Amino acid sequence: MADLKTDVRYIKGVGEQRAKALAKLNIRTLRDLISWFPRRYEDRTAFRRISDLVPGETVCVAAMVASPPAVSHIRRGLDLVKVRAVDDTGVLDVTFFNQSWLKSSLRTGETYVFCGRAEGNLLRRRMANPVVEPEGRREATGRIVPVYPLTAGVSQLVLSRSVRQGLDACADILPDVLPDEVRREHQLCRIGFAYENIHFPSGGEALDLARRRLAFEELFLFTLGLRRLRRRRETAAVEPFRPVDMGEFYSALPFTLTEAQRRCVEEALADMASGRPMNRLCQGDVGSGKTMVAAACAYFAVKNGRQAALMAPTEILARQHYEGLAPLLEPLGVRCALLTGAGTAKEKKALAAALAAGEIDFIMGTHALITGGLEYRRLGLVVTDEQHRFGVGQRAALAGKGDHPHTLVMSATPIPRTLALILYGDLDVSVIDQLPPGRRPVQTSLVDSGYHPRIYKFLRRLIGEGRQAYIVCPAVSESGEEGDGRKAVTEYAAQLQQEVFPDLRVAYVHGKMKPREKDAVMAAFAARETDILVSTTVIEVGVDVPNAAVMVVENAERFGLSQLHQLRGRVGRGPWQSYCVLVSDNRSEETRQRLKVMVQTADGFKIAEEDLRLRGPGDFFGQRQHGLPGLRVADIGCDTQLLREAQEAADALLARDPELKSCPAAAERVEELFTGAEVSFS
Ligand code: ADP
Ligand code: MG
Repeated sequence: MADLKTDVRYIKGVGEQRAKALAKLNIRTLRDLISWFPRRYEDRTAFRRISDLVPGETVCVAAMVASPPAVSHIRRGLDLVKVRAVDDTGVLDVTFFNQSWLKSSLRTGETYVFCGRAEGNLLRRRMANPVVEPEGRREATGRIVPVYPLTAGVSQLVLSRSVRQGLDACADILPDVLPDEVRREHQLCRIGFAYENIHFPSGGEALDLARRRLAFEELFLFTLGLRRLRRRRETAAVEPFRPVDMGEFYSALPFTLTEAQRRCVEEALADMASGRPMNRLCQGDVGSGKTMVAAACAYFAVKNGRQAALMAPTEILARQHYEGLAPLLEPLGVRCALLTGAGTAKEKKALAAALAAGEIDFIMGTHALITGGLEYRRLGLVVTDEQHRFGVGQRAALAGKGDHPHTLVMSATPIPRTLALILYGDLDVSVIDQLPPGRRPVQTSLVDSGYHPRIYKFLRRLIGEGRQAYIVCPAVSESGEEGDGRKAVTEYAAQLQQEVFPDLRVAYVHGKMKPREKDAVMAAFAARETDILVSTTVIEVGVDVPNAAVMVVENAERFGLSQLHQLRGRVGRGPWQSYCVLVSDNRSEETRQRLKVMVQTADGFKIAEEDLRLRGPGDFFGQRQHGLPGLRVADIGCDTQLLREAQEAADALLARDPELKSCPAAAERVEELFTGAEVSFS
């Protein structure tokens, strides 16, 4: 008797060879196979008679092959198969490129379904490269056809046939993880119907039902998992931190913390004193001063005899944290260190030894903090900066270095509410909803490249007043990308230096430079040894040079809204009026609308919502790998209502059955989904 963990090779019809191909997609078990959901669908349900064909329309035509297909060899690498197909209304000329095997498989006198784009005119109707199959088969035509994500060596047909067999093999054993009452209350279809129709929709409505059901199920299980992790964390006991006189720390600061910063610090300190591991998200817009919250927490941990670690997503940022915080904390007796990928092996070894010996109290660094065999003596606090840049797993790996260390996640990305709920559903949240005093909103304008002379003049004026400027370009260098009009960092920097600002100091930085070089350029900019820094988005995250007052973004249409918001956040950090100039020649209405959002609002949350709406969550994260277990169908950007329903259902279930005794299928699935992620969340 098969179960969902059965190897795909045991399915009748999936031989060794097909199994090998499927393994390339990580499809190994029956469950993997039936959970390989289509990426999209093509509606091939519309049929027309030949005389009714409308040029430009993609439809199916059932027609008989009237004469043997003719093959002609046009030139090397180009064969043409021509077929004359007829129905009782007319003649259709069908051509296929490089599919000469069709010559023998299309039999004269037989009827086939051709699905493709109609071309030609009333006199001659044509179709090029249609999908074709014998009438009545209805695998690739005559229905809504799934389009699967594939890899080389696996075709749509192979995949969909395998899935067909997989579904047939487990039709009777699919466990329904949703309790009946949940399914009824939320009007969700049965599991068998859902799997059948997500793969082979019997119609548009059935597909919607299937999707809704599967998305709900994912969000439901996900919520159960998060709740369980939270409970586990809440029941883990750690030695409470004792109170520390924070006055010494506060008076060492060059400014007074804002109300909002104070509140976040107090919330975090209370967590650490509670005897339970802290798991807190500190969310604050760019420039709201999250670094000092991290520093306060680190101080608190260190004064409690623990080590603290702060992980930043880039070298530049890690170094900046170190250079900002070490001078502040060292005099207070906190021994600080910086670990990045940049040091020599010898330096790293010495650092690791010092860390293990407890001679370092507060270590700042990149993901180098979690790679390799770093050992901490008494890790008590882990802070990750700009969390969205790290996978959930990385957050975990660092936390795994200690015994239930407190964790603080700092996010500048104003993550939309819904997303925050999902991503950080297991976290407590503090919000810094206030900027340090004296900040003036950045003035933002949207112009086309005809404005360059004026922009240069403007830069010159501000630099004359002592300010500095960033110019961000979408590409590193022009070589390779032939003339697509993108400004490239190296060329543009050279051009500006030579032709526009020969008397000013222009430098450039991009991600392909060595860490040491990048650091040197950034350090020079921070020390005001550079007037204009031409850069890629390496400066997008967190870089803090308050004297910089202008951010020019070239080819602004190339950037996402949240990215632009981050970039704009690099200026407006000092007492001066700051400016953001978005340069774009893109005339598309959609692009103009998007960029105008930047001009109209400075509210990071609004911008993020808009970004999510326009681009979808995949892009929002820069990549699909958001590290959220088991979310395949659910669209975390759009299924807000569904998420709410699923969360309510999960909470209601947990309230009456905390151990999930009444639905072992759900319990088992949650266990499976979250086993790998366990460290990540606790
Ligand atoms: P982000 O939240 O974007 O990480 P930072 O921590 O980099 O913000 O802080 C932005 C800038 O504001 C830094 O130059 C920092 O020194 C300054 N800053 C932070 N808190 C305050 C405050 N309470 N008063 C004045 N300046 C502050
Ligand atoms: Mg920051």
